[in-house]
Amino acid sequence: MIVRVDLGVVEFDIDAPTTAMLDVGLEGAVREAHRAAAVQAYAELEAQLLHSPECPLCGAGLRVVKTSKRKIGLLCGPVRIPVRTWSCSCGHITRPLEQALPKGRHSLAVVERGLYLTTMIGYQRSSEALSHLSAAEISHGTLQRLAKAEASRIDEAIATTTQQLYTNGVAPAELVARTRADTLVIAVDGGFVPDRSTKHDFEAKCGVVYGMKATVSKDRVELVDRVAYAGIENIETFGRRMSVVAMEQGMLSAGRTIVIGDGAGWIRRMARDVFPGAVYVLDLYHLKHRIRQVFPEEWESRIRDEAIGACLAGDPIGAIRVLRAATPAPERDEAYRRLLFYIRSNALGIENYTRTDLFGSGCVEKAVDILISRRFKLRGMSWLKPGAQGMVKLKVLRYNKAWNDHWGLRFAEAA
Ligand SMILES: [Zn+2]
Repeated sequence: MIVRVDLGVVEFDIDAPTTAMLDVGLEGAVREAHRAAAVQAYAELEAQLLHSPECPLCGAGLRVVKTSKRKIGLLCGPVRIPVRTWSCSCGHITRPLEQALPKGRHSLAVVERGLYLTTMIGYQRSSEALSHLSAAEISHGTLQRLAKAEASRIDEAIATTTQQLYTNGVAPAELVARTRADTLVIAVDGGFVPDRSTKHDFEAKCGVVYGMKATVSKDRVELVDRVAYAGIENIETFGRRMSVVAMEQGMLSAGRTIVIGDGAGWIRRMARDVFPGAVYVLDLYHLKHRIRQVFPEEWESRIRDEAIGACLAGDPIGAIRVLRAATPAPERDEAYRRLLFYIRSNALGIENYTRTDLFGSGCVEKAVDILISRRFKLRGMSWLKPGAQGMVKLKVLRYNKAWNDHWGLRFAEAA
């Protein structure tokens, strides 16, 4: 279908012939023309959608019996579009433009730009910024609702692929093919989001899959690519979807897979259940941090070094022996007991240090920070789970540079 619109002549007065005045003058004039052209384009579209002025049922002539106006938020600002209703003496009624108008009150272009801003700043500020940068108007409440609604659309593909895998046993296609010399790393972590309903926190689960390629120099590995997945969902859903992401990223062709976790029990169990062939490794960054919490002093560096040395040698029992021989400050007694328990319950993840030269890289920390902490902990902010879910999914699109792909599909489908 071709919709022909005459933009006419763009005319505007200019007080001073400077580039600045020209630029804003042009923008304003084009915006005016945009509004008029939109009304024109919809009228043209309506005529084409009507096909014929005759009734498809009885062949008698159709008459316009009503013209209502629909307000639609476009990039040039809100525009009131006439929507005509035709009727026939036989009782047939048609409103052809209805099918071409968006279901909501805004064009998808306005929605997309508004949501783009919400991944970086709060809903109120996004609404303000959008109307400052363009003429588009969309309320913060609408943006909030739309962010929430977008979650299931973003997850549509992975939900289907996961079901295919776990119900029908159909493995997802590899988007990245790897060689036996490659290592695939799956780093998993949780980020806490302040909960508005309970005043506590809930956890957003976050995983980053990245490929490692052995390089010419033996002790250097090259980080080739990385893809994140995150959600506020149960362990089973999250774990299964992570396995789909890992397969798409070449887990089946890679020589080995390493799962890195911070020691949380659910990550260990997930590694065991969903990635049975992978080597589970405790994130060294977290382990060092835990040890330093109990033995932070300068003069305690020997204990720290010896404990970490034992861990790196794959000897958690040895590390516990070193720590047991030391006496922490009394106020850190509780943390000390927790540290011993932490090392004991993560013994496997420590023993596996000898099976890999990769101990965690802060890569997932960074992802959690980008995906969760920065946006969810803006001052005084708290969230309800469905809203937070929508925001996490939008943030993952940005992180994975998949924003344009997702919205490209949405544009192709939308009215
Ligand atoms: Zn008729």
